[in-house]
Amino acid sequence: MAFTAAKKNFETSKEIGLYIRKYWQDIYRAREEGKKICWVTGLAPMELLIAADIVPVLPENYNAFCAAKQMGPELCEEAEARGYSMDVCSYGRLHLGTMFSGKGVYGALPEPDFLFCTRNVCSTHSKWWSAAAAHLGKPLFTLDVPQVGKQVEPHQAKYFVSQVKEFLKYCGSVTGREVTENRLMEVLERSARFGDIWNEIKEYRKRVPCPISSSDIFGNMFLAVTMPGSQIAVDLIGKLRDEVAEKVKHNQGVIPHEKFRLMWDNIAIWYNLGLMNYLEDRGAVSTIETYTCFTGWGERLDLRKGPYDSLVHKYMSGYLNIDLAVKIDLMKKIVDDFKINGVLLFSNRSCKSYSIGQYDIKAALEKKGVPSLIFEADMVDSRVYSEATIKNRLDTFLEIL
Ligand code: SF4
Repeated sequence: MAFTAAKKNFETSKEIGLYIRKYWQDIYRAREEGKKICWVTGLAPMELLIAADIVPVLPENYNAFCAAKQMGPELCEEAEARGYSMDVCSYGRLHLGTMFSGKGVYGALPEPDFLFCTRNVCSTHSKWWSAAAAHLGKPLFTLDVPQVGKQVEPHQAKYFVSQVKEFLKYCGSVTGREVTENRLMEVLERSARFGDIWNEIKEYRKRVPCPISSSDIFGNMFLAVTMPGSQIAVDLIGKLRDEVAEKVKHNQGVIPHEKFRLMWDNIAIWYNLGLMNYLEDRGAVSTIETYTCFTGWGERLDLRKGPYDSLVHKYMSGYLNIDLAVKIDLMKKIVDDFKINGVLLFSNRSCKSYSIGQYDIKAALEKKGVPSLIFEADMVDSRVYSEATIKNRLDTFLEIL
């Protein structure tokens, strides 16, 4: 099977690609420099760790990187050989595989001083983090986030904020330095700035032709995931926004003749991002993704609410923590806002939390007259990906459109 990386259509995407390599090298140097390290789950409030001067290490991010380098199956098998079933989320298997075997693009991740897990996207995270913490004999802090219905209730927000404060105290006890409110605000202001720019780019993607597609956005979401609140993230995303704005000014799209505008639902298929270019070669542009724009990453922080409450919306009401009915309404709105002709619902074998409800979403979209396609694969375990079947189904779907 010929898996490929996505083409980078922007100079800043190339710069971000180079920065990612440097980022990982810095991570491996952090301990020598006397810094504290925390293994943290995706969609945890990264700003808190940055404010505490603790180096956040995201195994999920490293997983995507290892998968892009075609190491997914080998690393998942390391965990399977130790009793983890293939039914366990492959992010969990891959990371535990690196931890057990020491293998990975750069080997195993540097050992953390403690682990931090949030319960705002799935139940896998807490089991996975417990297994890692037990293996390493390191402390684990879990931030419990209740499932939100239509909106966050005041008592839910209060519960969340009380744990955020407790966590900051805990971080202070790890570093020996208190995290002041001023320091937290400084980081949150940068995060809010990042969110504003990320959203400006999202707004530009509503334009016809679409100036930037999933092929660039999936690679660049690293900044939103890993380092909201850092100056480098603000600088790089600002450069990308300027490039996108320039394209819009000249009415340039991702491809010369945009025939179909698609929405991508679910995580990226990290080992074969070139699939986006396969679509583009056929006149179809993946214009927007639920994953990068509606799960919480890049969300605007409303600092008028104060430092702690500003985090509530971003980290409590993302796409994976809300009711199905709310998701369906959101999907319909995205279709209208981004002038979507068809929706690609990637049923991800690993992420039940993301994939459950896709048949209901499909039915609701059909009622609205929007065709959609459900296809199965896995985000990092390429053993359950059938290139011929998926391309066949995509071709047929484009013919229907
Ligand atoms: S189950 Fe889904 S949300 Fe949870 S860790 Fe796996 S991919 Fe992420």
